[in-house]
Amino acid sequence: MAMRNMHVGSDGQMISILCAVVVFCRLLPTGNGFPVIGDHETSESGNVENAIAPKKVYTSSMFEHWSKSAWKSPSWSYKDPAAWASIPGSSCGGNQQSPIDIVPKWSVTRAYPKFTFHNYGNFDQMNAINNGHTVVYSLDINTPADRIPYITGGGLNDEYRFHSFHLHWGSDSSKGSEHLIKSKSYPAELHLVHYNTKYSSFADATGHSDGLAVLGIFIKVGLADNEFFQPLVDQLGDILVNQDETTLTKLVSFQNLLPQKTTSFFRYSGSLTTPNCNEIVTWTVFENPIKVSERQLNKFRSLSDAEDEQLVNNYRPAQQVKGRIIYYRRYNGCELKQSWPLTSTPLLDIFKWGQCQLYYALSWQ
Ligand SMILES: [Zn+2]
Repeated sequence: MAMRNMHVGSDGQMISILCAVVVFCRLLPTGNGFPVIGDHETSESGNVENAIAPKKVYTSSMFEHWSKSAWKSPSWSYKDPAAWASIPGSSCGGNQQSPIDIVPKWSVTRAYPKFTFHNYGNFDQMNAINNGHTVVYSLDINTPADRIPYITGGGLNDEYRFHSFHLHWGSDSSKGSEHLIKSKSYPAELHLVHYNTKYSSFADATGHSDGLAVLGIFIKVGLADNEFFQPLVDQLGDILVNQDETTLTKLVSFQNLLPQKTTSFFRYSGSLTTPNCNEIVTWTVFENPIKVSERQLNKFRSLSDAEDEQLVNNYRPAQQVKGRIIYYRRYNGCELKQSWPLTSTPLLDIFKWGQCQLYYALSWQ
């Protein structure tokens, strides 16, 4: 309404300028980390690393990817994901798209360090919004900066600060996850979105190929309710309809949303899995799932989407790997300490230490 006194021409120019501002570098698929074992490489269509990637221009709508305003009109839906590539300015037809079908035997083992999860404690007053495509959970806006969770290690070159998390799920438990393992789905997948702290804000970070690090956590069905998941489920009745928003009254434990073992994971360079599918995500997909009950998943299935239909099957189908390397950090039974002795049982230590050294030697070849 406040815009009505502006000239249409200058408004149009302003939009054009805004849209043209952000030009991205292509993603560097291998990073600058460790050498790899070369004979496992998966390659569907030649070596994209040597190809000269065209510059990409993204529209300002990407900045609103996880915000409220971007989802008010259902300009895209999960009914026809193939059509996303024709959305003006989208990268959905690009060469580094997500999700993908992960085939462990085609991945390249790499000796990444462990992740460190900082401030992954308990948070109250979290915000939850039904944006018509998923539920997005974010921290209370008054959370002090020094309490905001962030991650380091895990082969990431920078520190990445938590922004929000959301889920993808199926209409039944035979499907729902975005990533697949050997073409198999999990019933749901949790995405913890972090942005690179070398950029001043989330919006700024989304303008760079190393802008986001998303942790993907598979969810499988267990018999018992997951008590740590329950605070996320309890108030879904408050946000049944698109654009409904609520404040969680119970504490959410970040640590307990992670799998028990975060030592095994897959890593690749990919994209957002919703339009405009920007290729700015360093993906980590943990091998070990978490468990929630069918009853808890059904609460998500009772929500309505942007078209007032049941909000289910909000996952994008697997995209082509197109020559990208999928790295694999395999937990091999030891997290090698470099000093000796390791413990008070020297004989066992000798065996374990040798085993670990062998593993690392192989990984670093
Ligand atoms: Zn997601």
